[in-house]
Parts: sequence; C-alpha cells; structure tokens
Amino acid sequence: MKTVFELSSPGRMGVSLPELDVPAASEIPAELSRESGGETGLPEATEGQILRHYLNLSTMNHHVDKGMYPLGSCTMKYNPKLHEDLARIRGLSGIHPLVPDKLAAGSLELMYRLGEFLCEITGFKGVSLQPAAGAQGEFCGIMLIKSYLESRGEPHRNEVLMPDSAHGTNPATSTLADCVVVGVKSNEYGLVDPEDLMRKAGPNTAVFMLTNPNTLGLFESRIEELTSIVHEAGGLNYMDGANMNALLGIAKPGEMGFDVCHLNLHKTFATPHGGGGPGSGPVACTEELARFVPDPVVIREDDGNYRLCRKQDSFGRLLAFQGNTGVLYKAYAYIRTLGAEGLREVSENALINANYLKAKLRDYFDNPFDNGPCMHEFVLSGDRQAKQGVKTLDIAKRLLDYGFHAPTVYFPLIVHEALMIEPTETESLEDIDAFAEAMISIAGEAIEKPYLVTDAPVNTPVLRLDEVKAVKDLCLVEPVDKGEDP
Ligand SMILES: *Cc1c(COP(=O)(O)O)cnc(C)c1O
Repeated sequence: MKTVFELSSPGRMGVSLPELDVPAASEIPAELSRESGGETGLPEATEGQILRHYLNLSTMNHHVDKGMYPLGSCTMKYNPKLHEDLARIRGLSGIHPLVPDKLAAGSLELMYRLGEFLCEITGFKGVSLQPAAGAQGEFCGIMLIKSYLESRGEPHRNEVLMPDSAHGTNPATSTLADCVVVGVKSNEYGLVDPEDLMRKAGPNTAVFMLTNPNTLGLFESRIEELTSIVHEAGGLNYMDGANMNALLGIAKPGEMGFDVCHLNLHKTFATPHGGGGPGSGPVACTEELARFVPDPVVIREDDGNYRLCRKQDSFGRLLAFQGNTGVLYKAYAYIRTLGAEGLREVSENALINANYLKAKLRDYFDNPFDNGPCMHEFVLSGDRQAKQGVKTLDIAKRLLDYGFHAPTVYFPLIVHEALMIEPTETESLEDIDAFAEAMISIAGEAIEKPYLVTDAPVNTPVLRLDEVKAVKDLCLVEPVDKGEDP
C-alpha cells in the first residue's frame, strides 16, 4: 500500500479556500511556508487520497471493530457507539477540570451515581473512581488495606498471598506497594488449594488477592472457605474484578467474603481498550476501608447538590483531577442503557458463548482443567500440536491469516502452551462458529501441512516479527532503518 507521502505531488490540494479579503493576521515564517520556498515535509494530496490513507491505516492492525478478538482475561468486546456519543456531549467533555463544583454539577452527579451503581454491582459500600487502570486499582486496593491495617496497629503485615494462576499485574502492584508476594498453589482442578492457603496465611498476611472466576475461567467454588481462612488469620481479601464480565447481576464480590475489588471499565463497561487508550479501574470496598479512599470524592449534600470533598483519612491522591472521566460517562451510560436485567444477560450470554465454543473445540485441543462448565473463558493447551512441532505461538499467528485476533497465549503460566479464549457476549453465533472452524482447520494443518502454521502469518501487512530482537534490543524512540526487514 502506498502512503500519502508517496502519493504526494507538488501543488496538489485537499481544500480550496477563497481569496483572502482581509489583511493577513501574521506572517508565516518563511521556512514553514511553501510559497516562500520552505520545506514543510507535509504531503500534498487530495481530500480523497487523505481519506483512503487513514482508512487503510486503520485496517492494517487487527481491532475489535474489524473482527473477533477472543482475548482471554482481557475482555475485548464490542463497545456500543451510542455511549461514545453520549460521553462526547459538550457539557461533559468540555468541562475544564478546574471549574467550581457548581458549574460541573452534571458531571459530578453522573460520577456519584456511577459510584452507587458499582457498589450495587459489587455488593460494597465505598468506591473510588480515580484509578486509571486495573493495575492502578489493585495498587489503590492494597493502599486502602495498608492504611486500614496501620489504623489497627498492624503495619507490619506486608505479605500479599496470590495463586500461581494470578494475572501479572497482581505481583507487580504488590511489589510497587512495598509488599512481599507469597504464592499459593492451585490444586488438580485448577482452583486454589485451601490447605496451602491455610499454611501460608498468618500473622504477616496483609491480603489475599484473587481473581474470581480465576484465570482458567473457573469459579472458585470454595470461595467462602478461602476468604474465611484469610479473615481468621487477620488478613483481608482482595478480588481482582477484571473478569466481572462473568458475574454481572449473578454474584457479588462483597457477598463472597471480599473486602475490596477493582473493576475494569475498559473491559466490562463499554470502553475499548488496548493501544494505550484511556482506561479506568474503579475500586469498591467495605465501609471500614471507605474512609481511606483517594482524594477527592464526590458527595451529595443534604440540599441535593454534589460537590468534591477531601477525606481526613484518605491515603492521598492517585491521579490528577477525577481520573478518566470520559470512560466514567460511558460506563454510566452503558449501565443505564442495559439496566439490571440487561447486565445480567450480558454475563449469561458471555457464559453460554464460552461454553458453546469450548464444546466445539474440545476434541481438537488438549483441555487440561475440563471439570465441567467454564465461566466466561476457558484455557486450552496446544501441547498436542507442539508435539508435531507446531507451537501455540504459531497457532496464534495463523489465526491472523484467518482474520481473527489470537487468544491470550502462554498465560496462565500453569497451563503448558496455553490458549486462553474469551468469545464474549457480543459475538454472533456465525462469528463464533467461524472462529471454531478456523481453529479446527489449523489443528488439521498442524498435522498435514505444519509449514502453513509455522510460516504464518502470510496475509498481514507485517509478517512474523523477530520477538527475541524486540525484547533484547528494545527501541521505542528511534525510527526503524528503511530497507531493513521489519
Ligand atoms: C486486565 C487485567 C488486569 C489489569 O488491568 P489493566 O487495566 O490492564 O491494568 C488485572 N487482572 C486481570 C485478571 C486482568 O484481566
């Protein structure tokens, strides 16, 4: 594909402006003006060429508006465009962050109400909308717990217990919060082993951090037993709620013995994610922890007005202003559009789709923790194909040739050659069937024509990347040498 820079031709214009009939406001410096012989480095192209340039660019990478993106754990579902429009209403998107509260009344009210909805969804009493991502929500949660433990006279508790299936951000945020990570084993069913938890929980336990459903897509069926073990040892329970797409309207973390959890609005609640776009990882917690949430919070006064308020016991501020408010507005609009019943249907359909797809693929791939129905995702193993010389990474690359993004691969770490698949509720039956057919066809290729898989992708604008070089020789700023293979 030729870029607009290559198509540029001197004198070509995208717009035609009328003759200036007023004095020019200021002189453009000669080096920036083509008329004075300056070199701007900008392409000269027609409006049509520009449009095609950007449209083509937008399709070079895979994205969820182009095709299915069954990324396990990181929910990539269709985000209704209506909510984008609502969040862009001038009265919301145009608010200067420093305006007085009374001029931002509508925005503050939406945040307050969103907080109430998130408390209802999670079964908690307190909330902070400030964290900008799931990982920052985790950090916020651990800071709440540390503040609480300190107030209880137990600042020495600094161990964070987590299962070996934990998402990578869990140990990272614990370390950042100056805690020590203690691993807890999973049993043969892929669930936390209560006996191991019992051994690890003790006088230094600050918190047990758990994703439920866990990263194998399995609901921790002995959850109340697990959270009681930790409470009895004097620690608190944190739920990584990034997988809330499985539980909306069905189960609440606050009723499972958790004390705090975060949600990923940019997974479950109508904001696309990836590529460094804005995210939001609100934290909901018990009343005991609520007094420590980051400053400031929105409160509702007796006269019905909303205002920002600083809390005396807050552990501090996490982010400038109110976090990523655009994401908050979208989440509010999404929740209002669907209502309680609609949210429950989201999760029910996410579960049905995952179980349907799992059943379709069961005979073609190893399925190490297949002890009955899964939740919103499931983890296959590419072990059988690896024995033929076709690795999970090859399968992932081959899927791109079939027009699908790969599932999450090599995670969770406890599954060999893992393929973690989450179809989500927004995919149609036809799309899920087509994905299953692609996977089945690749399983066949792995036996009959393995080179098709190991050489993949062949249909993408950029072929297989040198991942070792990318890791060892990481360079994020300098342009790639022209002429070199990507
Ligand atoms: C995505 C995810 C996170 C981290 O969320 P970010 O917004 O990417 O920081 C944490 N835990 C689980 C289980 C996740 O899927």
